[in-house]
Amino acid sequence: MKAMVLEKQGALLIEQDLPIPEPGAGQVLVKVYACGVCRTDLHVADGDLKYPKLPLIIGHEIAGEVVKLGNGVKKLNIGDRVGVPWLGYTCGKCSYCLRGMENLCENAKFTGYTINGGYAEYTVADERFCFPIPPEYPFENAAPLLCAGLIGYRSFKIAQQSCRGSIKKLGIYGFGAAAHIISQIAIFKGIDVYAFTRSGDTEAQKFAKSLGCIWAGNSDIKPDDTLDAAIIFAPVGSLVPLALKAVDKGGAVICGGIHMSDIPGFPYDILWEERTIRSVANLTREDGIELLSIAPEVPVKTFITKYPLNKANEALSDLRKGKLHGAAVLIP
Ligand SMILES: [Zn+2]
Ligand SMILES: [Zn+2]
Repeated sequence: MKAMVLEKQGALLIEQDLPIPEPGAGQVLVKVYACGVCRTDLHVADGDLKYPKLPLIIGHEIAGEVVKLGNGVKKLNIGDRVGVPWLGYTCGKCSYCLRGMENLCENAKFTGYTINGGYAEYTVADERFCFPIPPEYPFENAAPLLCAGLIGYRSFKIAQQSCRGSIKKLGIYGFGAAAHIISQIAIFKGIDVYAFTRSGDTEAQKFAKSLGCIWAGNSDIKPDDTLDAAIIFAPVGSLVPLALKAVDKGGAVICGGIHMSDIPGFPYDILWEERTIRSVANLTREDGIELLSIAPEVPVKTFITKYPLNKANEALSDLRKGKLHGAAVLIP
């Protein structure tokens, strides 16, 4: 099979011919029809996230079809359309798994980071961590739901929990793949969404407005309305104090990224009055099931730019430069 392989962090991916992997016990072989390109892929390729398996096939927004079953596979059948997310394995035994926090599992394995992922024609996946793709979604439109959608959904869920379900005005900092999905869900739920972008990124602001966001502007501007909560997807620590200043008493600032630059010091009074800052890590299978059931109901429309598999380096570079609106998707 053709695969784009990371041999060393900080280097470009290399196109290689590799044997098609064999599914082990409890695993399925998936023919990859689409794999989304996520900011986390950049952090793995660039070395912001340490100790990946090397050499590594990155990619954790995999949409494809089951073509072979390993021993003991119970749930899936050949021909099933499945999505494979970042969370690739959990132990089910550690204290986090036992408390329903499998996203924090001590022994977790992550697709496209500590196990091979989807920048390839085939991949193997643990059947317990494959989600059914709703029939409404072609593979390439489903792919961005599997991480951008999921991390957005989990961030939104945690923002709602932090605000006791009372969000009326939600700010989103960094209007890329995750933001464009979760803003549609929030608007569907009757919430006003305020989109904050890099200074002067009028394209992204226009895109946000076209999706129904009530306000769009530069991230250093404070809108006239006070927000109930804010989610930060951009990996920029200096947005944390800006978002804190924009949220109301009791409000929440949720950091959705896996990596962020340092957060600068800020006066205590912008945190005081029970504002919270919280990060979001990974996903649980429950998040996946919930998102994939609400997405066709909204219905969430994913905006994608397709690249052939062997143009993965270009796709990553366009993401790094902020040239994409919506999500990049590789098509093997
Ligand atoms: Zn565990
Ligand atoms: Zn991701």
